[in-house]
Parts: sequence; structure tokens; C-alpha cells
Amino acid sequence: MEIDKDKPYIYSDVELDSHEGRIIEDTKAAGIESIPDPDGWLEETRRNILLTSVDAVINWARRSSLWPAICFPACCAFEFIAAEGPRFDLSRFGMEILRASPRQADLMITAGTLTWKMAPNVRRIYDQMPEPKWVIAMGACGISGGIFRSSYAVVPGYNKIVPVDVYVPGCPPRPEALIYAVQMLQKKIAKEHVVPDLPKFKMPEIPRL
Ligand code: SF4
Repeated sequence: MEIDKDKPYIYSDVELDSHEGRIIEDTKAAGIESIPDPDGWLEETRRNILLTSVDAVINWARRSSLWPAICFPACCAFEFIAAEGPRFDLSRFGMEILRASPRQADLMITAGTLTWKMAPNVRRIYDQMPEPKWVIAMGACGISGGIFRSSYAVVPGYNKIVPVDVYVPGCPPRPEALIYAVQMLQKKIAKEHVVPDLPKFKMPEIPRL
């Protein structure tokens, strides 16, 4: 406590005590937080741990980021282009990035009539896509050849050359139908079994005494 030179007397005990009390209260108010409860992390974990399976996590990531390869041989392609546009906004489902290279794609949307002359190229695109990969056959031509089915030059359905996961009927199917097909494919992916079965543990035989 600073000595007040103007005061004629020495500070009393009460003044000294109250001054000391003020200093203690100021120190308390400006003090740092006490050390957190060492068991507080338990509360954090209760709010931040999510129990699930490996299958569920991997399938969630796969179905939420489908990247389609470009394979549009005929007129259904325009409905796909409309689905990609701002009105229907296919990117809501995590698949707005059309890949020009099949090596970066995991979904083939086959939109249009396929001729036998083009078939080997479509198969090559499919083979170049890395696993896992899926196929959506869009339109009557993609399902069965459509109105050109009887032609000797037309493939009667993409499933003749690549394994199809979802079919979208229509000539052409509307963008809503394609979006519904994408949702069906996402449901299918969600049920896939990703983790391989572990080898069964065999109990060692206990010799009889
Ligand atoms: S289904 Fe109809 S719209 Fe689609 S490719 Fe065939 S003819 Fe064209």
C-alpha cells in the first residue's frame, strides 16, 4: 500500500485489511480459469463418437460421390444434360462432376441407342473404369433397343455388353426419372458388402489325456 504523504496519520488495521481484501478480489477476478476437470473428456466423447459399421461408412462415401463417365450415343443425352442443369440440379446427390476420362469415373450412364459398331468402344470405356463401378441404362434404347430393336445394327440393350444396375424406362425418360434412378442406385450401393469375410477361427484340438 502506498503511503499517502498528505495523510497525517498511519493507516489503521481496518484500512490495511480492506486494501488487502480488494487486492485479493481483483486477483480472483483477473485470474485464469481453473484447470479443467480431467474427466471432462468423457462428456466430449459422449457427444462426438458415432458407432457404425465399416460397410456403412464406405458405402455412404461411395454413394454420395458418384462420378459419371460420358457415354451419350443418342437423343436421351439431352434429358441427362437437363438433369445436370440448375433446374433439376443432379449435383444435389453428389454427382455433378462429369468425367471425360473413364479412369476417374465410377458410374456409366448410358443414354441413347447403341449400335454394334459402337459397342466395343462402350465396353472399353467400362473396362477402363476402376472398381467399384455401376451402370444406369437410360431410355428404351438402353434397356432393349427401343424402337430400333429389330434393326440388325442396334444392340438390344446395354446389358448385352455391360452389367446394368438400374434401368430407366421412357423415350426419353424425364430428368426426374433419371434422378429417381440415381436414388435407387444409391440405395443399392448402401446395401453392398464391402469388408471381406474374415477366415473363420478354428479351435485347436485339445488332446485327450
Ligand atoms: S429411348 Fe428414345 S429418346 Fe432415348 S435414345 Fe432411344 S429413341 Fe432416343
